Order: sequence, then C-alpha cells, then structure tokens
Amino acid sequence: MLQAFPPLSQSDTAPLSSGKPAARFLHVLAGVSVFLIYQYITAILRLTNSAQEMDNKFSTIARDEFMGFLIGQNALMLIAYVILALVGAFLIQPFVSWIVARVKWKHALIVVFCAWAIAWWAHSYSILRLVDSRPYFLPDASVGGWYAEFLRFLPASAHRGVNIAFFKVFPLVLIAIALLWQVQRRRLRGWITLAVIVLIAGAVYGVGHVQAGNAASKAKSSARPNIMIIGSDSLRADRLGVAGYRPKRSDGAAAAGVSPVIDELASRSINFQTCYSPIGSTLESGTSLMTSQYPHTHGLRHMFPNQKTVEAAQQRTTPLATLLREQGYDTAAIGDWCAGYYQLMPLGFEHISVSNFDNFKVYMSQAVVMAHSIIPLYFDNAVGYQLYPQINSFASFVTPDVVTNRVRDRLEKVAGNDQPFFWHVFYSCTHLPYQSKEPYASMFIDPNYEGPNKKAFPFDVDSFASKTNLEEILAAASPSDIAQVNAVYDGCVRQFDDCVKDILDSLKKNGLDKNTIVIVTGDHGDDLYDPGTTLLHGQGFNGGLQASHVPMIVHVPGTAPKAIPETVRLIDVAPTLADMAGVKKPANWEGKSFAGWIDGSEAPQWRPFYGETGFPFMQPKVPGIKRPPLYPLDEMTTYDPSFNYQFVVKPEYDGPLVTAKQRCLRTQYWKIVCTPAEDGSRHFGIFHLPSDPHGRTDLASTRPEILAPLQSALTRWIDDHHESSIAEIFPNGEPQ
Ligand SMILES: [Zn+2]
Repeated sequence: MLQAFPPLSQSDTAPLSSGKPAARFLHVLAGVSVFLIYQYITAILRLTNSAQEMDNKFSTIARDEFMGFLIGQNALMLIAYVILALVGAFLIQPFVSWIVARVKWKHALIVVFCAWAIAWWAHSYSILRLVDSRPYFLPDASVGGWYAEFLRFLPASAHRGVNIAFFKVFPLVLIAIALLWQVQRRRLRGWITLAVIVLIAGAVYGVGHVQAGNAASKAKSSARPNIMIIGSDSLRADRLGVAGYRPKRSDGAAAAGVSPVIDELASRSINFQTCYSPIGSTLESGTSLMTSQYPHTHGLRHMFPNQKTVEAAQQRTTPLATLLREQGYDTAAIGDWCAGYYQLMPLGFEHISVSNFDNFKVYMSQAVVMAHSIIPLYFDNAVGYQLYPQINSFASFVTPDVVTNRVRDRLEKVAGNDQPFFWHVFYSCTHLPYQSKEPYASMFIDPNYEGPNKKAFPFDVDSFASKTNLEEILAAASPSDIAQVNAVYDGCVRQFDDCVKDILDSLKKNGLDKNTIVIVTGDHGDDLYDPGTTLLHGQGFNGGLQASHVPMIVHVPGTAPKAIPETVRLIDVAPTLADMAGVKKPANWEGKSFAGWIDGSEAPQWRPFYGETGFPFMQPKVPGIKRPPLYPLDEMTTYDPSFNYQFVVKPEYDGPLVTAKQRCLRTQYWKIVCTPAEDGSRHFGIFHLPSDPHGRTDLASTRPEILAPLQSALTRWIDDHHESSIAEIFPNGEPQ
C-alpha cells in the first residue's frame, strides 16, 4: 500500500535527509487547533441556546443551582479536544508534509492553513461515516444525501462492498500510511517505539485473555440451561401477531405483520396467553419480576423512590440473579434507557450495561456531551468510556442497535467457555414516544396523515411535568391521531421483533440455541386509546387489562410447543426459572412456579391477578367518584443531592400516593376495580370479562353475590397483603 503512494517516499527522502519534514508538527497542531477551537465555541453556543428554550421547574433548577457543575462539565470536555488535537495533528502531518513539499511558497501559515483544511475535511468525512455506523447521531437526515444518491447509481448487490470500502477500508489505509510515515521518519527509534507499543498491547491483551480463561474454567459445567429474558418496555401481549393482531396496513414489508419472528418463536414455544404485571411501571414491575414479590412487599410503589425505600427494598428481596450467580451463572442486565432502573436496583446482576437519565446530574451532563458533537463522534469507544465513564450510560448513546450489539458481543465471548448465563435484555423499543427508526417508523402508518403523531407521539415534557389535566389533554386527540399513534406503535413492535431476530440468530451462530431458555415478555402493557382509556400505562384500571397484559413466550429447547390460556403473573417467573435451573426457592418469594405446566407434570389452573397503579401522572376519571387531590410531577418530586441526584417523591406525598392507588383483581371470568375516593371511602366496580372485555358496564349493583367475595379478597390483598386463590374466593366454583 505504501508503494501505491509514491509521492510519500519522495517527500520522505528529502526532509529525512535534513531530519525535518516539510510540515513541522507544531504548525500542523496549530491548524488543527484552530479548527477545534471553533468547534468548542459552537458547542457552548448550542448549549446556551437550548437551555434558553426549555421552560419548566427543572430547567430553572439547572440554571440556578448547577451553573458551576455545567461550567465544570464543559471544562472537562477540553481534555477530549486536547487529545483529538494531538492525535489529529500526528495523523494529518504526513499529508500536510506531502502537500507543502510541493508548494513553492514556504511559510508556516501555509502549513497551518493546510492542516486546518485537512482537519475540516477529515471531520466532515467522520460525520458522513455516521450514515453507515450510527445514523442516530446525525444532526439531520439530509447529511449524506449525496452519498445515498451516489449509491442509487450502483446495483444493490454492490452497496455492502462499497460501504465497506469507503467507510472501513479507506480510513484504515489512511491511518496505516500516516503511522508508517511517522515510524519511518524516526528510523530505528521509530521502529523500537512501535515494537515496545506492540509488546505492551500484546501483554495487556494476553493477561486479559488468561483472566477470562481462568474465570471460564472456574465456572461449573453447563449442564444447567442458559436463560435469556428478552423484553421491551410497554409491549402489549394482544398486539402481537401470535395473539391474532393484524395491523391496518398489509402492503410491502407490513404484509408480514408486526411480529413475524416472535410469532415463529411462539409456534415452537410455550405461549402463556394470559400473563400480567403487578404494576404498570418499569422499576417496580422489573423488581417484582426478578424478586417474585408484589410491590407492597418489596416496597417500591412508584418510579421515584427515595434512598431509604430503595435500600429497604434491597434488604427485603432475594433476586433470582443472586441465586444463579451463587451457582456459577454469568449474570448480566443489558439494555437502554428503559433498563436504567438497574442503576438504582441492580437486582443481583453482576454485569450491568444500561443507560440512565433519571438522575439529574446525568441528565445535564448528557446535554453537555451531546452539545460537544466531537464526543459522540470520536469518543463513543473504549478510550471515551475511560475518559468519561458517564457516557457509557447515556441514553442517546445506547439505542436498541447498541443493546443488540452488546448482546451479540457478549454471546461470542461466552460461547467459548462452559459457564451458564442468565441475562435480562431489556429494550425501550415500544415505550412512549413510540419512536422507531426507519423503515419501521413508516411501515404501518397512514402516509397521508398530517398531524402531530406523524412518526411518533410528540412527548411534551412540560405537560407531563407541570400539569394535572393530562387525561383531558390526551383525550382531545382525533380519530386519525389515535389511528396514527397505534400505527407508529406497530412499527415499534416490528423493530423489537427484529432485535429478537438478531439475538436468536446470534444464539444459533454461537451454538447456544440448544441449551438456552428464551423468554420474550414485557414489563407491562399500555393503553393506546382502547375503550375507556387514553394513553399511558400504570395510571388506572378503567377499560380493559391491556396495560397489565404482557407476552410470556417461553422457549425451552426440546419441549413440545403449546398455548396456555390460564393466568400466570410476572411474579411467577423467578420461581419457574429457579425450578428449571434446579435452584432452591427462598421463603420470601410470593409467586408460584409454572414449571410443571411447561413439562406437563402439572395441569394449568387459573390464578388470580392482583395489580396496583404506579406514579399518578394522571388520575383517570371514574363516574360518580371524587378522587383524592392530584399534584403536578414537579410539585410532588424533587432531586436528592445525597442520593446521587435521583428524582424522588417528597416525603409528604409518599403516603397519600399509596392510599390513592387504584387496585384490581381478576379471576377467570371477573374483574373488580377498587377506586379510593377523596373522603377516604373505596368504590368497587365489577365487570364480566367474557361479555365485556373492555370493562364498560359495572355490574356491582346487579350482581351482589359476585361483588361480595371479590371485594373481600381485594380488600384483604390491599390491607393485609394476603393473596386469596380463586378457590378461596369462590369455594363453590367461580360463577360464569
Ligand atoms: Zn415500563
């Protein structure tokens, strides 16, 4: 390759004889620095402008109390600029030398200008590379438009090759040329330095490899199954193809439906058609899933718990991952911002790779990093993570693709050793604001729709943070707005479906598919303007149970597939997996294993579902009930500097918030909903599910013989935390 760059050898020999290259390093550094100083100033201006546009209590706090922190963060960014200037000048110097050697007018300013121009070109090229590697970082969609046009002139089969040549091989060749030039120029000294660097790098790699090998050999034999739970936040069970759901559009890619991969997996798995989450909120539900406890037992009742509550929950629980770890399992939680709760509640997992924005300082630090676009561009890598450990957990850096890549990398790593693994892979794909990437975002929508929900739901932070009439605001949507929200949600499901595909493919490729139990599920469902509801999850039990109903597709290699309509609950998952892995279940678990239903040793039986609402972003109206007063989010919460700047509910609201929760109990045929009123009384409504799945007709006054046992069971659950079975509720059999 060096020979293919003949002018380099010419320019090399001349300056080398005099010991100096045509372009001095300091002059090149000056040119690169001019370019980077401009970038730094632009970033600061960008940050100042965006801060002025925001207007809620939190942005005021940021300005008033955290100015020092923000200035410090911006100063820290300078380290990255200095590194970039030095590395950039080192790599650019050979090319500047080559050009300057050919220019008649020899002057330092020529070198500076030339270095500036090449830095500018290299930076533009780096941005263009995002088209291929990380399109979600692109400032706007028009970047790289000419490249897309250029590709259109080539046959589709050539695109991959051209992309590899242009985005991967080309920069590597340039870097190799620059490095060789720098080494050769220093002759023996250069080669010795290179040899030392290679030796050190080899030694570091070797030590890491030996350590990994030791860890693997320490692990017990993998007779036990691997377990992988793949989830997506707000994934509704009834919105998958396997549940009979068909999207409105069926043209082109939409013809395969919203979940072709999950449907295929379900066809060779045990499909639990009726699985419920005890609470429609991620942190609390995720904790229940892993600890087999109801929220009132582990103590996390809403998404903004204070330090005391979190520590108490950690004391009170025995997560499945802790038990499996003791048995030699590799345990990992891998996810994006929806899995951020693992930063708060690690739930026994040893390796946690998730992003986070529930922490006020991370939130602001992230805004700073994103404004300095050189960071996502050049430091979204191992060096960057060393320099700024916080960016590893930034929401904008961790997209579903990043999650999938991390899972793939980890699968490749574990494939070689004998250690069984238990991983929770959790995506934000289907969470509000229902934003998927293309082609999913356009796959199911009405292309002629012109309104606010064009490709996602426009999430208005100010409405969520400072208003209490969210239900009315959401209810104002038109039928076409509602249809569009549902269509963008379908696209999100399809994007998740492809994530599942990539993971299943990787399991297979690494030879792990025959010994891995795969579960596809969610943390709760969602209300998508279903009858009697608006948007959101975890706010109420009006209408149907779509916000509590999650998929539970359990693939056990070698086990015959079947569909099971009887109810299971997320709190039953840990006991089931413990049974399947041969681990003893602790006494503080409240769920019941359904492992016997899977291997056929036990006949399925209907179980009761008990649920409660989460943080009240709104209090859905119940006819005839005056509900307790509701305060806006930015009034009820604050951040706690002594608790890592987490958002927490103020202590005075903790109790009232629990008292005001709606609760629900579902048996095989009936649903009862308890709605607390302002005067301290409780209202109970009952609904007959087979004839009224959307809970539109309250039969409390006409069916007192059904109301009484359901009411006493739900009351016992609320007040005494006692779960009555269906047989206990209806000793003579449940009336249909
Ligand atoms: Zn969630």
